[in-house]
Amino acid sequence: MALLVNTRLLLRKVKNARSLMPKRHRMKEKWAATLPKFPPTSLALQHFDATYSVQLGQLWPSVRIALLSERKYGALLNTFSHDAVLEDLQAKGCRDFITDTDTEGRGALPEHFSALPCLDPESVVGVEGESNDVPVKKSNADRHLKISPKIKCLVFPRGDITRFKPARPDTQRLLGYYLLDAASVLPCLALDIQEGHIVLDLCAAPGGKAVALLQTQAIGFLCLNDTSVSRTLRLKKVLHSYIPKELLTSKNLRITSSDGTKWGEIENNTFDRVLVDVPCTTDRHSVMEDDNNIFSKNRIGERRRLPQLQLELLLAGIEAACPGGEIMYSTCTLSHIQNQSVVEQAIHLAQENHGIILEVVDLRPLTHMFRKTFHFAPNLHLGEMVIPHLGANFGPIYMCKLRRLT
Ligand code: SAM
Repeated sequence: MALLVNTRLLLRKVKNARSLMPKRHRMKEKWAATLPKFPPTSLALQHFDATYSVQLGQLWPSVRIALLSERKYGALLNTFSHDAVLEDLQAKGCRDFITDTDTEGRGALPEHFSALPCLDPESVVGVEGESNDVPVKKSNADRHLKISPKIKCLVFPRGDITRFKPARPDTQRLLGYYLLDAASVLPCLALDIQEGHIVLDLCAAPGGKAVALLQTQAIGFLCLNDTSVSRTLRLKKVLHSYIPKELLTSKNLRITSSDGTKWGEIENNTFDRVLVDVPCTTDRHSVMEDDNNIFSKNRIGERRRLPQLQLELLLAGIEAACPGGEIMYSTCTLSHIQNQSVVEQAIHLAQENHGIILEVVDLRPLTHMFRKTFHFAPNLHLGEMVIPHLGANFGPIYMCKLRRLT
């Protein structure tokens, strides 16, 4: 039934898009005989049904429906723009989910959280579940979360799926907001950028998280990298639409197109903060769009290599961070193999191959603070994950923060 609804939705979308398109750009539909029998979206759904029904258990049916339904966006406010965008959006019924939390004392964690055994800083806790072979050191819960007051992201209330209008340029030609999955701001908030920090965004294109990081206006030096030249061009375009020229041309910003897996060899022990937002199966895209879909038959090899690529990128990010520095690993998939397993292996290999000891930073103050806005997966043994839900259809976004002890 859900598949039927999905197919109808897709067909309607395609039809609408075609009627809006100028005639000269329209292409002939593929002949039925050349259409794939199983489009990538169906293959993705089959794969997710098989793996996520086991991984998520009884949560999967509701997550599945949300994944197949219209997603919700957030408007990341551009504090560099001169327009009164905040007031405009608030007048339309939006709220800044970052300042409008329902916790007493902005993210303060209730007393009982600190009593959980995994929060002992000296304890080495075995990982629960199937992959229980890598011991993971967890940090003491930082019961008060430091959140940059400059990052603002507006959302419509729960259950309200009003769409945002595209942002308009102000007199300086800067756009007032960037539309993105509001949950993807969380890894940037949790990265906890402090004044003067040297920051690396290893897989930065097309740049949503880079725009969020720059909103803090606290970064001392920012390096934005993406291996894809075409996507790096897109990143540059995005930055020109959101960030003032003087900042873009300053010596404090560097944009590169290198293979991130090699980063540790070139510039190690350097950065205070590293964001490793890796390529993944982009679950929502994979079940909704046949174009550029990683479940296409001709991308099977690429899909199978993803966990290895993710591991290499995370290890490079860990090497690039300085001792005491923090690394945020994030994806937009629900997959255990691309999330927790990658982190576990990276922690193990960083110690084995490079003598780097890491601890996992407890992000429960963050999930507690934003529980009014997002649905978080319960009881993940490593990291936190926003799971799609019809009432708040954001995510999936997985994040795990590591701190270098050596
Ligand atoms: N952080 C971005 C944002 O917020 O807009 C999204 C990043 S996207 C999930 C993953 C990116 O990783 C893609 O742009 C892809 O080109 C890049 N990528 C893939 N392999 C890479 C590698 N070996 N080194 C660096 N970047 C890589």
